[in-house]
Amino acid sequence: MNNVYKNVKLASLNGPERTFVRVGKSSIGKDFVVIGGPCSVESEEQLLDTARKVKEAGADMLRGGAFKPRTSPYSFQGLGLKGLKLLEKAKDETGLPIVTEVMDTRDVGWASEYIDVLQIGARNMQNFSLLKEVGKVNKPILLKRGMNSTIEEWLSSAEYILNEGNPNVILCERGIRTFETYTRNTLDLSAVPALKELTHLPVIVDPSHGTGKVSLIEPMSLASVASGADGLIIEVHRDPSVALSDKDQALIPTQFAELVRKTRMLRDSMENLK
Ligand code: PEP
Ligand code: MN
Repeated sequence: MNNVYKNVKLASLNGPERTFVRVGKSSIGKDFVVIGGPCSVESEEQLLDTARKVKEAGADMLRGGAFKPRTSPYSFQGLGLKGLKLLEKAKDETGLPIVTEVMDTRDVGWASEYIDVLQIGARNMQNFSLLKEVGKVNKPILLKRGMNSTIEEWLSSAEYILNEGNPNVILCERGIRTFETYTRNTLDLSAVPALKELTHLPVIVDPSHGTGKVSLIEPMSLASVASGADGLIIEVHRDPSVALSDKDQALIPTQFAELVRKTRMLRDSMENLK
């Protein structure tokens, strides 16, 4: 029995049993999964072209935001329903399950019809109404770490979802705010093995938001694999120079394909270390 955090009950590791979250052909927690795609859904051509390339590179799922949490109200806010319909189209064509963020309790019900995995973004990790709402849907939840949240607070947020009856929660380390400014965030990879001893839930890593820099994404992806992560979520754009959000951290499809190849090789060779 893990008694580190008194109020983390359902999420805590209580024995050898771990939660595997089924999405499409993958069992997250058992299979190593790679999710790729643009920060935002921008247009049909942009999404479908990127989706095809991400699939070709060997990704297991497609990401793309239709509702975007932007610092400024004047920045691109996402295409909303139109974006969800484009994601659905990309799924029909490629067969890749869709991961996308929901920001508003009012959107959870209808939007989840289009979505395979609902993402709760870093800025909403402690939006307790939203956590309770997604705890009631029958879809897996990708719960990102809040940028100023401790592991205990993060697990308490997972607890909200589990407590509403949704057992399918995947945690995603995406970096925290520190005094460092060279990187967008400080990717806390020690959280991965720490979570492995605290919770039965699968843990993936987002080195795109975790570093904010293209050059650092592949090395930190490999480091994520070494730390024991169950998967990666990576931003990919066919032409980052015209991306409507997060252009500095978007890989082009060839870089993404290399990343998938190397991370899978490392993951396979880690099996021999066991
Ligand atoms: C995103 O995935 O595009 C995103 C906004 O992530 P985060 O919530 O981690 O900042
Ligand atoms: Mn982004």
